[in-house]
Amino acid sequence: MNPFQTPIEYLKGVGLSRAEVLKKELGIHNAEDLLRHFPFKYIDRTQFYKVKNIEPDLPYVQVLARLTHKEIIGDKRSKRLVIQAQDDTGIMELVWFQGINWVEKNLHIGKAYIIFGKPGSFNGKAQMSHPEMEMYSPEAMRRKGNMTLQPAYNSTEKLKSFQLDTKGLQKLIGVLLEQHAKDIHENLPAYILNRYRLMNRQDAYRNIHFPDDAAKLNEARNRLKFEELFFLQYKLLKNKIYRTHKFKGNVFDKVGPCFNNFYHDKLPFPLTNAQKRVLKEIRIDTQRGVQMNRLLQGDVGSGKTVVALMSMLIAIDNGFQTCIMAPTEILATQHYQTIKSLVGDGFVETALLTGSTPKKERRILHEKLENGELKILIGTHALIEDAVQYKNLGMVVIDEQHRFGVEQRAKLWRKNVVPPHVLVMTATPIPRTLAMTLYGDLDVSVIDELPAGRKPIETLHYYESHRLRMFGFMKQEIAKGRQVYVVYPLIQESEKLDLKNLEDGIEVMSREFPLPEFRISIVHGKLKAAEKEFEMQRFIKGETQIMVATTVIEVGVNVPNASVMIIENAERFGLSQLHQLRGRVGRGAEQSFCILMSSQKLSNDGRIRLNTMVKTNNGFEISEIDLQLRGPGNIEGTQQSGVLDLKVANIATDQELLILVRKCVEEIFEKDPQLSQPEHQILHQATQTKNSGLSWDKIS
Ligand code: ADP
Ligand code: MG
Repeated sequence: MNPFQTPIEYLKGVGLSRAEVLKKELGIHNAEDLLRHFPFKYIDRTQFYKVKNIEPDLPYVQVLARLTHKEIIGDKRSKRLVIQAQDDTGIMELVWFQGINWVEKNLHIGKAYIIFGKPGSFNGKAQMSHPEMEMYSPEAMRRKGNMTLQPAYNSTEKLKSFQLDTKGLQKLIGVLLEQHAKDIHENLPAYILNRYRLMNRQDAYRNIHFPDDAAKLNEARNRLKFEELFFLQYKLLKNKIYRTHKFKGNVFDKVGPCFNNFYHDKLPFPLTNAQKRVLKEIRIDTQRGVQMNRLLQGDVGSGKTVVALMSMLIAIDNGFQTCIMAPTEILATQHYQTIKSLVGDGFVETALLTGSTPKKERRILHEKLENGELKILIGTHALIEDAVQYKNLGMVVIDEQHRFGVEQRAKLWRKNVVPPHVLVMTATPIPRTLAMTLYGDLDVSVIDELPAGRKPIETLHYYESHRLRMFGFMKQEIAKGRQVYVVYPLIQESEKLDLKNLEDGIEVMSREFPLPEFRISIVHGKLKAAEKEFEMQRFIKGETQIMVATTVIEVGVNVPNASVMIIENAERFGLSQLHQLRGRVGRGAEQSFCILMSSQKLSNDGRIRLNTMVKTNNGFEISEIDLQLRGPGNIEGTQQSGVLDLKVANIATDQELLILVRKCVEEIFEKDPQLSQPEHQILHQATQTKNSGLSWDKIS
């Protein structure tokens, strides 16, 4: 048996009761879990601070000082031991609230001590509570000097009561390494270690817990990050290769009348270069007899729908049916209308299927799907229900990836003997490195260019004090015949407050923009669907000039005449949400504007977010900054994936390494797809024994 699978209670020095708390508090069940409980920081014990240089916001520091006075003060609850310690630059205070008598007895006035703790201040004086104390001796100084970086482990009060604080944990890990370091087997091929100058695995585990010095610690971390990212990419790419071998793909080998007719007679504009490039990528994918799984990323308005439609027309030319799946009825309906208007009547049979399609209509649809008459079906996930059977489904387009799980994609693959090609479209640009991890098993296409002649949206940041100027601007644009959105934040936790916000906002707006000159639509989550629809329609038809709304308008609204987006309390929105909201304007021929209203007081991150919005319209740039600000765990769509449960590496800060690792793994599979060469045997072993430190079942 692999010694690292040994249950934690059997490890030397643990025992049953401590095993219980380790499991409960830290999820440490076996030796491997303990080995992979890495320090969250290291404390530098190489230097000694002078008392006068101690600031309250420093991390743990070490001081060499002589004790000059001790006193127990207060009584009962407020009882504490206060000791003065002095060096040649000043005096500081050391305080104990617990273990007072013992500490008092064991610390000696007049002696010098090595004092280690987190500085604070009390009445303007430097202070430390419950510092670690060791009496000065040349021997102790030498030992401390050699300890250089001291790890600190996450612990809890409960753990501490079982002597499992940093010191206790370190001791357990020390014992484990002493006994089993030799059982930590290398899991990367030797030539990879050489090429990327990676520390071997044993040394890496030893140094991450007991660093020899800062350089070695760096090497250790780098090695473990490499390994972590390596096996993540390994898994993703292996899946991809497996799928390629398992699933044959429909071959779209010709371009026929459907496509040609559309391209020559119907397409109202020239394609952008980015659109052409993506179409070509899809063409290549769908000709080679392997199932396509492609992610199409592109900002709102970059023209993804046309690309999807044209690929579908090729599928139809080759005798297949196609479908588009959208996350909401509004979006599905919008796609249906867009596609209807693009292809015109009597060209290819197109239909809409959603949860609210009447039974009778549904029956007719099913029939036409089964006999192959219906070529394009657009809908919500109603169209992958088991009752929906296709004669020959050749291609599926999924809009807005992150709302569809892998599960649902898999369901689609089963819709045919040969699974349909899958094109996933998303308007939420995500950074390249994140895409590599989240969608690492998909091929990725990017439309990074807006259609020519589109005027970039101009974004302004106004403080509350400029509200009148903002109203003036709204009036000026409305006088030109334009329409305006005013959006208020809606955050689940404080729904009441938000509603109040919205209500106040509506009142201010109604006063500033009175009837009969101005008409306002109001849309928020508390309205019934029919009321919402009615209000939306009034705005869409141009009967109202202002739409006051919460973020419900984020998706699914397309009003080309609306050219101004006002976002209230903009500092409360995340970057990707701000970007999505801004994408509601800029859809017509007119110059569009986005005005971000905020209070004077901004957090640092809030300021960066608003500045970013003002500075750029590029969704990819914005997503990069979002990733830096919030870290990978908070980016939309990543929470449930588990893919980002990384222990050492961090997708936001280790982007370069990730790109390097991805390339490395790609090369391995290119050279040796079956991993049959001797130098790659080690990879089979590593993934079989689960010794790679990643839990496979979380990924895919
Ligand atoms: P997306 O789905 O990427 O948000 P759409 O496909 O809905 O974008 O396109 C946005 C608008 O731009 C649509 O009105 C579409 O007809 C138009 N459009 C798409 N491609 C081009 C192009 N190459 N030139 C001009 N307009 C285009
Ligand atoms: Mg779209």
